Amino acid sequence: MRRQDLHVNALVVGGGIAGMQSALDLADQGYRVALVERQPSIGGKMIALSKVFPTLDCCSCITTPKMSAVAHHENIELLTYCEINEIQENGGGFVAQVTKKPRYVNEADCTGCRQCEYACPIDIPSAFDQNLGAHRAIRVPFSTAVPQKAVLDIDNCLLCGKCEKVCPVGCIDFTQQPQDFTIEAEAIVLATGFELTPTDAKKEYGAGQLRNVIEALTMERFLAPTGPYGHVLRPSDGKEPESIAYVQCAGSRDQTLGIEYCSRVCCMYAIKQAMLLSGALPLADITIYYMDIRTFGKGYEQFYQNARAMGIEFVKGKVARITEDDGQNPIVRVELMDEDSRVVERPHDLVVLSVGMVPGYDPQAIYGIPVAGDGFVDLPLPNITPTVTRRPGIFVTGTAAGPMDIVDSIVMAGAAAAETAAYLEAGRLLSRKLEVSGKVPAELEVAHV
Ligand SMILES: Cc1cc2nc3c(=O)[nH]c(=O)nc-3n(C[C@H](O)[C@H](O)[C@H](O)COP(=O)(O)OP(=O)(O)OC[C@H]3O[C@@H](n4cnc5c(N)ncnc54)[C@H](O)[C@@H]3O)c2cc1C
Repeated sequence: MRRQDLHVNALVVGGGIAGMQSALDLADQGYRVALVERQPSIGGKMIALSKVFPTLDCCSCITTPKMSAVAHHENIELLTYCEINEIQENGGGFVAQVTKKPRYVNEADCTGCRQCEYACPIDIPSAFDQNLGAHRAIRVPFSTAVPQKAVLDIDNCLLCGKCEKVCPVGCIDFTQQPQDFTIEAEAIVLATGFELTPTDAKKEYGAGQLRNVIEALTMERFLAPTGPYGHVLRPSDGKEPESIAYVQCAGSRDQTLGIEYCSRVCCMYAIKQAMLLSGALPLADITIYYMDIRTFGKGYEQFYQNARAMGIEFVKGKVARITEDDGQNPIVRVELMDEDSRVVERPHDLVVLSVGMVPGYDPQAIYGIPVAGDGFVDLPLPNITPTVTRRPGIFVTGTAAGPMDIVDSIVMAGAAAAETAAYLEAGRLLSRKLEVSGKVPAELEVAHV
């Protein structure tokens, strides 16, 4: 079944903070934009965070107005739950072959009332809550999801029909099929984001098998008001942890994993979480094991000094191994970076791995854009045009280009929108001059590197 094909000026791929910002900046300048997101809601990783460094603002309070602005902008066509299968060149632009995955819910009619969710008898682990909480087989993805439309996990559905019976607008459709359509665009902005270093990669740290060794995004969900438990509880026995340790560079600056770069955000998010934990669990001891503390941004060094002043313990050392005792308490074996390089073992109730950022998506096959040695999109002139890729008309922004925090993602998103607008205008100027003179002016022959 085909949906209606679309014609836009720019196609933005990925609806995290970077993609949303680029789409908004282009749309505000009057360009028609299609924003394609593969998940049922936009928001990216940021919408799952609790509070953000360095201001400790509530993350949802920053993200949801942008999500809403994207959904309501007259120049933005928001396309969630869609995959781009192929990109072809078409004259001066591109044609994207897109598939809209079935929600088994008629999106146009669904009001997000959640009656279907309340009636559904099936609970399945919630990926949004790092599998610590559960959601129903049919549900609105999360409370601030945009669009507020239900989605059914057909693989876990009993087809009992309870959702269909309670839906006030009759929008459940168990027979829904994928829909194919095309988007014609003059330019593309890739904002496909990042993933976390898989915890099973690091065998010395328990390879993801130790129940009380969690990764930092799980702690974000514990700390978030909408998190799975509403409290910080350790997964094995639901006990409030009295001693929490952070292990830095657990997936970055690590040749054994082939991830040699610094992920740039882990020091700051660990310090942020330690501060938030001091508030949530005032009696808990919090330790951060680190090799170097990298607080590179405006106000970030002061943030670190504030954490020290609050009593968070910073231990300079390399964590060699994490095991557990009979009570599933993690034991951290650390080589201290002091004068005699002592090796000590310290028990904690809960350990948080400060995992790094790895590329979220490889654009080579579909977009024909090479990636650099680190797996992120290759930037031919990072110091001069940091959003320009090796393929004319395709730009990149946010963590698709490399590890960065929210501030830098937003700044880069603005830059990508500006580069894209300049590219679109150069194309228009070229067409106008061609119409008048019949030949390509020399200054416009090379619009790209
Ligand atoms: C634990 C943790 C805590 C953090 N805390 C902070 C903080 O306090 N302050 C701060 O500044 N930064 C923080 N960060 C960093 C912050 O999360 C990132 O800077 C930010 O989310 C990057 O946004 P993005 O849009 O580049 O990527 P993402 O948020 O990854 O968004 C990318 C989007 O693209 C979509 N996508 C991917 N591939 C495709 C495809 N092929 N087609 C369509 N869509 C696709 C994804 O589904 C996703 O929605 C933290 C990071 C972590 C891991």
